[in-house]
Amino acid sequence: MREKLSNPKETIRVIQKYQFGFQKKFGQNFLIDAHVLEKIIVAAGVGEQDCVLEIGPGIGTLTQYLAEKARQVVAVEIDQNLIPILEETLEDYPNVTVINEDILKVDIARLTQEYNEGRPIKVVANLPYYITTPIIMKLFEQEVPLDNMTVMVQKEVADRMQAGPGTKDYGALSLAVQYYAKPYIAANVPPNCFIPRPNVGSAVIRLTRHEKPPVQTRDPRLMFALIRAGFNQRRKTLKNSLDNWGGLSFTKEQIGQGIESLGMGPSVRGEALSLEQFAALADYFSGLGDTEEKGLA
Ligand code: SAM
Repeated sequence: MREKLSNPKETIRVIQKYQFGFQKKFGQNFLIDAHVLEKIIVAAGVGEQDCVLEIGPGIGTLTQYLAEKARQVVAVEIDQNLIPILEETLEDYPNVTVINEDILKVDIARLTQEYNEGRPIKVVANLPYYITTPIIMKLFEQEVPLDNMTVMVQKEVADRMQAGPGTKDYGALSLAVQYYAKPYIAANVPPNCFIPRPNVGSAVIRLTRHEKPPVQTRDPRLMFALIRAGFNQRRKTLKNSLDNWGGLSFTKEQIGQGIESLGMGPSVRGEALSLEQFAALADYFSGLGDTEEKGLA
């Protein structure tokens, strides 16, 4: 068997052989630390029955680890310069399929159908940081059959996903992620575990999909619109933020009554509300009837 890419010498050999130029626009920071790679595999709980979707295999470093543990790995890579490299580095692994595509354009539900008969897959990735949130939200919102997602993200983003009400990191991302999944930070990863080194710290976070959402609301779309509007202007009160947003066809007084129905004072800010309270607020407004579609994209 060939030398693994987790050995930095092998990574450098491959990069030099193909004269690969790192592309900043694709968020290319490749892992070169075997301990971190092992931690990702353990956190994801990859086993021999699993079909794993890897987003952005790079030169195949994490892919080699996944291929040794999983039944099937489907790796989607946007950079066509990496495709001939992956052919070499993954030649010993017949259970890997590489797809040269933009993950944001791929029909992931179809992939799960094709490679896992529609059963839940695991997503494992050292994500390109410039599109972390769109990728994660796509996987959740499109209701891809998913067991868990174990991903390397910017440390600051991992903290935001895990944060609770009233903390500085709490925001729309915390609520969106926690509606769909239970977050758990499995490891903090310093810049020297990558080549080239990123300017920020990183963390491995596992998001375990809830079987059903932890809160019930008649209108999840309205709830998410209220969350976005509530955090849009962080220094304003929730009442002013919702009034300025203009997506609700109610008077400022009615908006205030809705907030008070949660047992909150009129000067409360969005960051004090839990997911349950945003769900209750959405139900209160939808109970009043007629919420304008504005902003509910
Ligand atoms: N998995 C490799 C590793 O851990 O060494 C590389 C991780 S690197 C942080 C992110 C990878 O995602 C790069 O290979 C990059 O080309 C790829 N990528 C960036 N944007 C993408 C997109 N929209 N769709 C698919 N892959 C993408």
